[in-house]
Amino acid sequence: MITPFPPVEFDAEIIGKLSQSGPRYTSYPTADRFQNDFGYGQFLEAVAGLRMRRSRRPLSLYVHIPFCDTICYYCGCNKIVTKDHSKAAVYLGYLKQEIDMQGRLFDGMGQIEQLHFGGGTPTYLSDRQMGDLMAHLHANFDFADDAHGEYSIEIDPRTVSVERVHSLRKQGFNRISLGVQDFDPDVQKAVNRIQPEAETRAVMNAARAAGYRSISIDLIYGLPKQSIDSMTQTLDKVIDASPDRIALYNYAHLPHIFKPQRRIADADMPSPAVKLELLKMSIQRLCDAGYIYIGMDHFAKPDDELAVAQRQGRLQRNFQGYSTRAESELISCGVSAISAVGATYSQNEKTLEAYYEKLDGGVLPITRGIRLDNDDLLRRIVIAKLMCNFELSMSSIEQGFPIKFRQYFETELGKLEAFEDDGLLTIDDEWISVTPKGRLLIRNICMVFDRYLGVAQDVAPQPLRYSKTI
Ligand code: SF4
Repeated sequence: MITPFPPVEFDAEIIGKLSQSGPRYTSYPTADRFQNDFGYGQFLEAVAGLRMRRSRRPLSLYVHIPFCDTICYYCGCNKIVTKDHSKAAVYLGYLKQEIDMQGRLFDGMGQIEQLHFGGGTPTYLSDRQMGDLMAHLHANFDFADDAHGEYSIEIDPRTVSVERVHSLRKQGFNRISLGVQDFDPDVQKAVNRIQPEAETRAVMNAARAAGYRSISIDLIYGLPKQSIDSMTQTLDKVIDASPDRIALYNYAHLPHIFKPQRRIADADMPSPAVKLELLKMSIQRLCDAGYIYIGMDHFAKPDDELAVAQRQGRLQRNFQGYSTRAESELISCGVSAISAVGATYSQNEKTLEAYYEKLDGGVLPITRGIRLDNDDLLRRIVIAKLMCNFELSMSSIEQGFPIKFRQYFETELGKLEAFEDDGLLTIDDEWISVTPKGRLLIRNICMVFDRYLGVAQDVAPQPLRYSKTI
């Protein structure tokens, strides 16, 4: 018998007290810690290390398509907004070159069990271009069959027809995630993303008819013109549409960093108090509708693979958020994409010019990265376990690493006492367990184990680099 997790608990006072900026821990160390002296050579060494150890870990692929047709004012992504679709054709040529190189490097090293297309807007590519790209990926990598692989794509419902949804399924995708953000027409206008509800529903219906295994919807709270009333209506519509997963992101209004956000009128922004109410109400409504709070903005139906994996302690966290797959090597292709291979992270060049230049020179377009030391690997596991399971067995960490947990993390355990006093977690001889009240503040708890926080570095100060933890 599997015991479900207790529901998440909203405590406005604690949230107000602890709200601060912090990483999302899709990687540890976080990307701002990557170093410029890590490049193509170091990546080759990491792959050679895998070959020597005859690693049989499964492979994951991420493909980044950076283009968008129009700009959404809230966007903080690394994207290129252009109506000139010929740019995509040029990009595709280089992307295929990178896929060729990665395919040769990883030849014979395992099957692809996970594929994710992100952006930008992956469906900026035409149906023909996508078919061509998928065929190229299949020619270079050995993919697990449809029943065993998770092949997902982010879709902007404004860019796809019902026929295109069916075509993407035939091209090999079996999961889709739809950007919705908010169904309210005034909110949509304020963020320059007009997306009629009927259009989104048509895409979802087509996805069900085409046999996708999972449909996920992205929402954002804290957008301009949002009110409790408008958000209630949006949530009612989303619950009625019944996606398998829902991501509810916090809008980080940082116009000093993200230029498009300067087009959002300050007067339209909900106050911090309304924003907290929006979050509280959204969590309540989604949980009442039967969704399970997975953690870090994510909800899923109780029978969805994510919820099942969490109950069984198998949940993982990677650059795409939560995943049900065992730890795998992540090979990422495309401008600014981040790979995780062996004990390394590596990121591709962030501009098209630099990305194309490296590929023209015959090398993988890696610009920076990091080789994890033993302390990084240890802390990465501790943070991942807390993020995914909301609990950590100290002895299970001692089995994997030659340390005495209480000794090694004496300072950290001391810091956790303040959270214990606030009722956010409990610590006994064996377990650190996050309470329902602490689940919304899991980032704050994980930050205690982050060795790099507070360590000076040559980029912007911390409050500007990370979004609010809640
Ligand atoms: S939110 Fe998505 S579609 Fe909108 S500009 Fe950003 S990446 Fe493009």
